Amino acid sequence: ISPDASLVHALRRVAGEVPERTFLAYFDGRLSHREVDELSDSVAGHLAARGVGRGDRVAVLLQNSPHFVLAVLGAWKAGAVVVPVNPMYKSGEVRHVLRDGEVAALICSDRAWESYLRETAADSPVWIVLTACELDFQTRGDARVLTFERTAQAQDADDLTAVARAGNKAPEGRAPGPDDIALISYTSGTSGTPKGATNTHGNIMYNAERQRTGLGLPEAPVYFAMAPLFHITGMVCQFGACLNSAGTLVLAYRFEAGVVLDAFAEHRPHYTVGPSTAFMALAAHPSVTPDHFSSFRIISSGGAPLPPALVEKFRAGFGPYIRNGYGLTECTAPCASVPPGREAPVDPASGTLAVGVPGPDTVVRIVDDEGAEVPFGEQGEIVVRGPQVVPGYWRRPDATAETFPGGELRTGDIGFMDAEGWLYVVDRKKDMINASGFKVWPREVEDVLYTHPAVREAAVVGVPDGYRGETVKAYISLRPGAEPDPDELAAYCKERLAAYKYPRLVEILPDLPKTASGKILRRELRSRSHESQ
Ligand code: ATP
Repeated sequence: ISPDASLVHALRRVAGEVPERTFLAYFDGRLSHREVDELSDSVAGHLAARGVGRGDRVAVLLQNSPHFVLAVLGAWKAGAVVVPVNPMYKSGEVRHVLRDGEVAALICSDRAWESYLRETAADSPVWIVLTACELDFQTRGDARVLTFERTAQAQDADDLTAVARAGNKAPEGRAPGPDDIALISYTSGTSGTPKGATNTHGNIMYNAERQRTGLGLPEAPVYFAMAPLFHITGMVCQFGACLNSAGTLVLAYRFEAGVVLDAFAEHRPHYTVGPSTAFMALAAHPSVTPDHFSSFRIISSGGAPLPPALVEKFRAGFGPYIRNGYGLTECTAPCASVPPGREAPVDPASGTLAVGVPGPDTVVRIVDDEGAEVPFGEQGEIVVRGPQVVPGYWRRPDATAETFPGGELRTGDIGFMDAEGWLYVVDRKKDMINASGFKVWPREVEDVLYTHPAVREAAVVGVPDGYRGETVKAYISLRPGAEPDPDELAAYCKERLAAYKYPRLVEILPDLPKTASGKILRRELRSRSHESQ
């Protein structure tokens, strides 16, 4: 059990214990725990003065920068609920979130405001705090200066940093309790219109505490924020866990393999977590060496399938073992992970890598269509009950009743459990391909493709087929220097998979479409293949 009711309480504790320890490192800039406490107080005071009250929603649309952390902590200190908004969202998606969340205030960069948000937010009852400081690292030029300092001198009165520097006081009596909603997290939409999962402060503290006590990291751990902070994995496993552990969080705007490797060399982090596609990109970068990973105690993959071939290639090439973890926005990031010091087994029949074992106080069951539990080794839907499962979706009683019957989360994922308690995720129920009446799970085919040396990324979908109903199609991006040969890739799979499973169609793309959290968007590839029919 966490000693703190929320991350606001954790910040007060840590700022008291180690005030001068660096909390946020951003290129050449540093902010200590004390500074973050003071600056976020000031943001809170400013929000309260502008009428933001307890339970009001404050949207935050920022990349991985110190401003994100100040905005979130400031909003919580004002008693508000944070609505993290994916910076990759287009106008229509942002509008949906602003309306659905009935957002009272939006904190974003002036760049995003000028380029598309002014129009988007025009008919919403929101007001804006601009941060004139979020430099895009691709155009940063001399941006390896502390952008905080730069913007502190900016003229813009609404600038977040200027606001923060103003020394406002946080309003009294607004500290959140464990049952209060901390976040409305819109699911990334790999499967439809985003719904807002209501993560409570208690949900967050449970997983943040699991990370603090369960990973065996050193005193004063250094975390590298590889996953975007707006996504639940970044929010909880990086920002939340790091703050709760009185650690240092290294931020690098957004994922770009070369910048990430530079940050590893400079900051020597102990821990990071990211989607498997991030590790694929790092492994394919021309300047990567084993030394880049020598400071790490643990590297975790989460939020997307982890191909066993990647784990082996990574270990052989660079040293670290990538530790799998399974979670959803609806269970506030992980609900099962590989215990440190252990290695996840691979199921001999299907070649699936286990995602881990359920955390303490977490019950994971595998059920059939009628909701009855199935025996070990048998496939069914994964359902989860535990302190990290959210109470429901924001203002969606029907969707809440459907997804959380009796408070248990129906994940929509198919999986199985072995007799030792290891959990395996087969795939998403809705991604199943029906080829001539045979079930094909895309992930199994992708896992085989990943064993091919030319393959960088793989995604498998079902495409309409007059004869079979659906046929299996693979989209591939290649490793640098690899020669594209779709027929050879199809033949490679045919040798290793049953005849109905191997991809009869293979298309090579320069890159596969992904969510901002790095997940490959099978949905987009499916519509692409339907359009080209
Ligand atoms: P939406 O709910 O709109 O479809 P999303 O599912 O991408 O969006 P997230 O909550 O980010 O939203 O993703 C959770 C899903 O990611 C899980 O349901 C599961 O399908 C997949 N996933 C997460 N971790 C793993 C893992 N270790 N192995 C396989 N799949 C995983």
